[in-house]
Amino acid sequence: MNVLFLAHTEEDGSLGKAACEALTAAKGLSDGMAGALTVGLYGAEVQQAADQIAACGASKFLGVAGADFASARYGSDASACEALAKAAGAEVIVMPATSRASRVAAGVAQRLGAAVDTRLTGLDVAGGTIVATRWFYRQRMLGKIERDAKPWLVTVDSGCFAACDAPGSASVELLSVTPATRTTVTGIIAPAADAQTIRPDAKLLLVAGAGWGKTQPDGQKHLDDASSLILGLLAATQCSLGSSKSLVDQSGEGAALPFLTHMHQVGQTGSTPRHAKGLATCCHGEEPHVVGWRFIGERRAVNLDANCGWAQGKADVLYVADAFAVTKKLAELLK
Ligand SMILES: Cc1cc2nc3c(=O)[nH]c(=O)nc-3n(C[C@H](O)[C@H](O)[C@H](O)COP(=O)(O)OP(=O)(O)OC[C@H]3O[C@@H](n4cnc5c(N)ncnc54)[C@H](O)[C@@H]3O)c2cc1C
Repeated sequence: MNVLFLAHTEEDGSLGKAACEALTAAKGLSDGMAGALTVGLYGAEVQQAADQIAACGASKFLGVAGADFASARYGSDASACEALAKAAGAEVIVMPATSRASRVAAGVAQRLGAAVDTRLTGLDVAGGTIVATRWFYRQRMLGKIERDAKPWLVTVDSGCFAACDAPGSASVELLSVTPATRTTVTGIIAPAADAQTIRPDAKLLLVAGAGWGKTQPDGQKHLDDASSLILGLLAATQCSLGSSKSLVDQSGEGAALPFLTHMHQVGQTGSTPRHAKGLATCCHGEEPHVVGWRFIGERRAVNLDANCGWAQGKADVLYVADAFAVTKKLAELLK
């Protein structure tokens, strides 16, 4: 069986960690199936990356290099991947699930007439058959997949295999590829890493509920204050932001907080985050929302209503208080 490890190089010419992990997965397959391993690399230049893994046991190193392949661009990346897979006569193609590779994986599979499975967490050989593992239904079910289809293109999630470290000196056969694309890359602008408000690695989840947008005891709505208080607490604690469905649904009406999307929604029809602690503010704590908290370790809530859902055994601590005042004071104390 011909196994192709297919990856892009990084901006500095190296092979990234996720790619080195995917290489370990590919090597496991070729060893397990007594097949041949080919390395296929694309980027501005590929020699440095090939040397980084020269001793990985691959029988062949193929490359597509040049200014056209320096940056992520669908047309050029897909052309490079297609050419590398065809030159390798690949039956199984293993790519890292980086954002750059993920953008083209399905399209490349289509060009090759291949089956495609993405974000695998395991790739094993059992009884002469390849068994792929991946999560379904937001990590509620672990599925095992076997396929007869060839070629079979897969992407492998980072953190599931040890990174291959096999430096040496590789002899790379360069392919000539002319990408059919009308897009010119003039530069890439990326937001700062902490600009996002959903931070899965944070210790604390701050949930904002619909109360932030409701008429307050003074008879007024205070959406601007709500925005700055929530963003202030996020900045001070580097916590992750979640929301109730009622609050994110108001975005469509232009009435909610401008930085919230449905990606923030926690609950039955939202996400199930896994932070160590959670603080709900202006959120009632109804079951369809609280079910999304089942992996949160310590739960606290701030609500004006002493009989809200959180008080019905759903929170460890309920502060019966005005979340505007509590959040303001908290941010001051954390300065
Ligand atoms: C099939 C189905 C699926 C659903 N899925 C989800 C889901 O995934 N996620 C989800 O969140 N919901 C979901 N819901 C909706 C859910 O039942 C609730 O309607 C929703 O969670 C209510 O949001 P809330 O608590 O923010 O709003 P509200 O119920 O309006 O509560 C607002 C709270 O803010 C408090 N408040 C107001 N001002 C202040 C203040 N100054 N200080 C402190 N507290 C204040 C009020 O006392 C009130 O308790 C689902 C419903 C259904 C039927």
